[in-house]
Amino acid sequence: MSETSELIATAQENQLPIYRQRALILDHGKGSRVWDLEGKEYIDFAAGIAVNALGHGDAEILAVLHAQAGKLWHTSNVYFSEPPIRLAEELVAASGFARHVFLCNSGTEANEAAIKLVRKHAADQGRGPDRRVILSFAGSFHGRTLAAVTATAQPKYQQGYEPLPGGFRYSAFNDIAALDQVLTDDVAGVLVEPIQGEGGVVPATDGFLQALRERCDALGALLVFDEIQSGMGRSGKLWAHQWSGMQPDVMTLAKALGCGFPIGAMLVGPKAAEAMQFGSHGTTFGGNPLAAAVARVALRRLASPLIASNVEQRSQQLREGLQAIGSELGVFAQIRGRGLMLGALLAPAWAQRGGEILDAAAREGLLLLQAGPDVLRFVPALNIESADVAAGLQKLRSALALLSG
Ligand SMILES: *Cc1c(COP(=O)(O)O)cnc(C)c1O
Repeated sequence: MSETSELIATAQENQLPIYRQRALILDHGKGSRVWDLEGKEYIDFAAGIAVNALGHGDAEILAVLHAQAGKLWHTSNVYFSEPPIRLAEELVAASGFARHVFLCNSGTEANEAAIKLVRKHAADQGRGPDRRVILSFAGSFHGRTLAAVTATAQPKYQQGYEPLPGGFRYSAFNDIAALDQVLTDDVAGVLVEPIQGEGGVVPATDGFLQALRERCDALGALLVFDEIQSGMGRSGKLWAHQWSGMQPDVMTLAKALGCGFPIGAMLVGPKAAEAMQFGSHGTTFGGNPLAAAVARVALRRLASPLIASNVEQRSQQLREGLQAIGSELGVFAQIRGRGLMLGALLAPAWAQRGGEILDAAAREGLLLLQAGPDVLRFVPALNIESADVAAGLQKLRSALALLSG
């Protein structure tokens, strides 16, 4: 038995069977290339689900991580340390709207904090529990903890976990007319992804975000942008909402914020700045010095014009390559998304074959993701090189040609 099959068998024996990994063991990486235990090389179009935004083994991230590890790993929030203080200061400055930052460890924790903050803000305004509704949208994904999964308006993530917490409501994404029925004066907050990720890489229209902004203002509700996947430069601007010109009251971040080191953040604007006070919320690990030191480098690098221009150029290269594959093989119905957050909607004849395509891509040496059953998702590192995009497209074409042949 090879080391790979032995490890996979051991994983299947001991781990909760909640994932369906491809049959390979990743071992090491450099930039946008990764190697498995058997030495096979892959182009990485997955980047740990839009996380490794500076690729693998970035020298500056490694240097900062090593330096901080040698000084101080963890203090808990009972004591101050410098990295989270500086990170919060830099996030406030970069956000364009925020007053305060709460640091945590993951996306779902950031959204959980935002949901609690919306409720607390409403309570402070004298709203009773029945007027603290959170509105979210079909196709959304906000995380797996119980409140975040309740805000996630996709039944497949919720089934079996009932009773779900009350006070959540759903509406159709990008449907402005539908808001009249649901965005009423019992809504305390609206949670929305400026570009839906897991739901199939679907950008919110500018008009939809504007309608949400106007209605939230009219009702005294907080507008929360979940930029956990779309933020940190992925869309070609630091925050995807900048394309629309609409600012949120609260924004959540995770994924690329630590470029692979677990960290999340909730940024809070002036309207809700007083909602949480001493004792309102907390975390043991959140704002850990190691994570914060890495995130400071990530923020500075991902906010740079160098990254923005690479995202724009590689996005165009990737989009054109996908369009060419699509017209040659008839596999794609639509290419959509923004920057290096692109989705290829599979044509009807291919719509059930996403898993098969991912397996075939891996055999060709390409790591790829789905977003829902019928969309291939492309979220590579934001510093990916032109040659790596070209090589990845070539491998995708080979995989699809073999499947259609
Ligand atoms: C991944 C994701 C989350 C959840 O983040 P975790 O770190 O997995 O908890 C929430 N919202 C969006 C938009 C995401 O893409």
